[in-house]
Amino acid sequence: MTRRPIVAIDGPAGAGKSTVARGVAARLGFTYVDTGAMYRAAALRCVQNGNDPADAEACGAAAAAMRLEFAPGAGGVQRVLADGEDITDAIRTPEISALSSPVSKHPGVRRAMTALQREMGARGGVVMEGRDIGTVVYPDAEVKVFLTASAGERARRRAAERAAAGVEADVAAILREINERDERDSTRLEAPLRQADDARLLVTDGLTPEQVIDAIVAWANEAGEGAP
Ligand code: C5P
Repeated sequence: MTRRPIVAIDGPAGAGKSTVARGVAARLGFTYVDTGAMYRAAALRCVQNGNDPADAEACGAAAAAMRLEFAPGAGGVQRVLADGEDITDAIRTPEISALSSPVSKHPGVRRAMTALQREMGARGGVVMEGRDIGTVVYPDAEVKVFLTASAGERARRRAAERAAAGVEADVAAILREINERDERDSTRLEAPLRQADDARLLVTDGLTPEQVIDAIVAWANEAGEGAP
């Protein structure tokens, strides 16, 4: 059976993946899956359980036991539910942002999240964003994009996002934080952040989100032309 296309968008922190992936999904009528939110949820659960974030076994077991769901929320915001509890805001704190990277390197955590991501995309018609979607989760995705921007640009965008949300934002501190996270995500043994050999590289410095969305939608439409 031919499935609808899968659009895999990977890249480092602050590259604009969420905005772009959400926009592409809306334009194509596809489901949007934010896999970073899933690793953040695993980190939060690990902390809530009182586990040491460095404890691979405990964090892996906690992630495997968690029932994770996405639900539509007001204003088009996707809510994240863990065992029925709304954790949408709790996973965006600086503490959980920092912990999501060390927790996501545990093999048990990755196994649980990868299995769930494959279930979510089984029928195709999804835009999935993360670090390892085109390399590990869906190496056969019809459209693969590696989205990036210069480190300075990524830090400025994150600072603007936080300022818009009323959170104090220091560009230099954010730059240090995302460089640290990218370094850890790129050098880990399990599913490191890297561009798949057959992914298209999109460097978004100087591009508007709309320009990036247009490019990816065009690639998805090309890929979909072969499908029924
Ligand atoms: O995308 P976001 O910044 O929300 O992701 C949080 C963290 O989750 C990343 O820094 C990375 O360590 C981890 N992650 C991952 N694999 C993915 C998505 C996110 O390891 N597919």
